[in-house]
Amino acid sequence: MNEPTKSFLRSAYKEYYFRGAGAIEFPAEIGRREFGYIPFGGGMVRHLSFKNEGEAVAEILRQSPSSVYCSNARYERPASPIDEKGWLGAELIFDIDATDVPTPCKRGHDLWYCEKCYASGKLPRPAKCSKCGGPTAEFHGTCEACLDAAREHTMKVVGFLTEDFGVEREAIRVYFSGNRGYHLHVYDGRFEQLDQLGRGEIAEYVRGSSLPLSQSIASTLRRRPQTGAVGAGWARRIARYTEERREDYGGTLQKLVSEAITSQRALVDSSVTTDIHRVFRLAGTLHGTTGMSKTRVTSMDRFDPQEDPFVLTAKAVNVAVSFYPQFRARHRDFGPYKSVTVELPTFAAVQILTKGLGEVV
Ligand SMILES: [Zn+2]
Ligand SMILES: [Zn+2]
Repeated sequence: MNEPTKSFLRSAYKEYYFRGAGAIEFPAEIGRREFGYIPFGGGMVRHLSFKNEGEAVAEILRQSPSSVYCSNARYERPASPIDEKGWLGAELIFDIDATDVPTPCKRGHDLWYCEKCYASGKLPRPAKCSKCGGPTAEFHGTCEACLDAAREHTMKVVGFLTEDFGVEREAIRVYFSGNRGYHLHVYDGRFEQLDQLGRGEIAEYVRGSSLPLSQSIASTLRRRPQTGAVGAGWARRIARYTEERREDYGGTLQKLVSEAITSQRALVDSSVTTDIHRVFRLAGTLHGTTGMSKTRVTSMDRFDPQEDPFVLTAKAVNVAVSFYPQFRARHRDFGPYKSVTVELPTFAAVQILTKGLGEVV
């Protein structure tokens, strides 16, 4: 990333923060949170703390960094090294990323490219470019089908939390991550003190990966009367699903049980939920590789990921693009580009520039 590109990105982000600082959403007890940021072209700065919102906003404006993070944990001394912070508790968080949800469209928009000659092809990525022998990288695209799938899994997590864990719907805040998925923050005191193990169990529960083998679930179901779903949680979910379909189902009960699990599980990233010392993108701030904002979703039905998170301006900028596959931004199609200079609106240019696949000219 050259200097003109860095300075363009910094001022595009700064322009947003001047205008949109009010959209930044701070968690309770700011003074007990660890903050961090990544400057454009630089490494992560962690272990920062701020007394209040004003102090944090001033620093975000001053730095206009590529990413801003805040801990879900509260600490006695948030600016100290990890083992001296004094962990006080943390909100429960789920991360649902389109990357982790298998969708058939990925074959079309996920690819490898050569970092030297920009040849590209379908995954899996070869170790070396088939044309010039140069180093290769993967490009993961996003499409509406991917985001719909992520949205569906997010709704499933909400379902598990409210139905199986008795969490009030108002205690769950859903955010678009600013890239390819959703974050769920759960403000329910019962989870605050949970350690990694306990959080891991919840993540595995919603993923449906801690269940007995479908064969043994099926044999339990066979021993039960056909009607009247009993039990709670997954037992009730599976019984309800199989009972509704069993009569007309052609396959075995074991297969139907597997289907009941696959169709109801929520593919959250367990490693995110279990990490109790992590920092997360601060709501209302911009994503470092898309320029989209991490946006609070108040209605999953009305939220439009092709519009709502695009908060940068449409001001035109000339970009020399090395390589970039076709993409959609604000319902407009761009690309594909290869070794070409194009005039783009800022909100689209930033997608390319932040990934190091183009420079401002
Ligand atoms: Zn090559
Ligand atoms: Zn897709």
